Amino acid sequence: MSNVPNIILNNGVRMPQLGLGVWQVPDEEATTVVGHAFASGYRSVDTASAYQNERGTGKAIAASGLPREEIFVTTKLWNNRQGYDSALRSFDASLERLGLEYVDLYLIHWPAPGQDKYVETWKAFEKIYADGRAKAIGVSNFKPTHLRRLMEETEIVPAVNQIELHPWFQQAESRAFHAEHGIATEAWSPLGQGRGLLDEPVIGTIARRHGRTPAQIVLRWHIQLGNVVIPKSVTPSRIEENIGVFDFVLDEDEMAQLASLDRGTRLGADPDTLG
Ligand code: NAD
Repeated sequence: MSNVPNIILNNGVRMPQLGLGVWQVPDEEATTVVGHAFASGYRSVDTASAYQNERGTGKAIAASGLPREEIFVTTKLWNNRQGYDSALRSFDASLERLGLEYVDLYLIHWPAPGQDKYVETWKAFEKIYADGRAKAIGVSNFKPTHLRRLMEETEIVPAVNQIELHPWFQQAESRAFHAEHGIATEAWSPLGQGRGLLDEPVIGTIARRHGRTPAQIVLRWHIQLGNVVIPKSVTPSRIEENIGVFDFVLDEDEMAQLASLDRGTRLGADPDTLG
């Protein structure tokens, strides 16, 4: 059984606070990796058409034997498919590859403001939602300025914004904006992509105190902030380790020490320039 708590999205849908991210996992390997995650208690998986592993992910879902309603599946629309009609077609293709009748969450992968199509794209998302083919719709990599425009020009407030977020890049402004508008914050690269961040001495000290690993300390920090996390690993022992973060608590001082690691610099692209 899964011990991952749910958060309640702004339309009442429940979303597990922790899931498996599968960026850079080859399609064939995705079936095994996602299958191992399900066996370890994960019930949420984050893929995207751009990851080219929706088929492999879908095979793992089919093979899991789990009731569909117990699994939370997220996929995303890639930048070159923005626009009303092309978004609808791209969504159909994602569903087909996943072998599903609906996804739990469909995200616009990047705002790609240079294209100036995210408003019409979102209108396609509203149609997909109205048709019941996505239980919730959201965005990814949207800055408050992009979100403000969406909310001014369309009907539905995104349920989720999935953004780069980890102790080196804490996104205080976006998190406050999301909280104010009832948008759930989902952290991508929650472990800072496993490089460098996990070697921070502050994290190591806290990890030793709790008898946990640095990755578990960082994930626990996210959980206590209320973020949804989707750590990626293809290593069975790490997949298991990353879900083991619901039986200890960081105190206020430890949370403050982790907050002090913010550098305000991204590992990934700036949403104003990508796409
Ligand atoms: P991550 O922060 O989850 O780091 C993953 C890396 O950390 C692994 O490849 C591995 O090297 C290491 N790692 C994992 N578990 C570990 C452990 N227990 N101990 C030590 N090292 C460990 O980085 P990510 O893959 O970039 O992000 C996670 C997910 O977020 C992706 O798989 C994808 O689903 C999503 N994502 C979305 C966007 C977007 O634009 N929306 C961008 C990047 C990632």
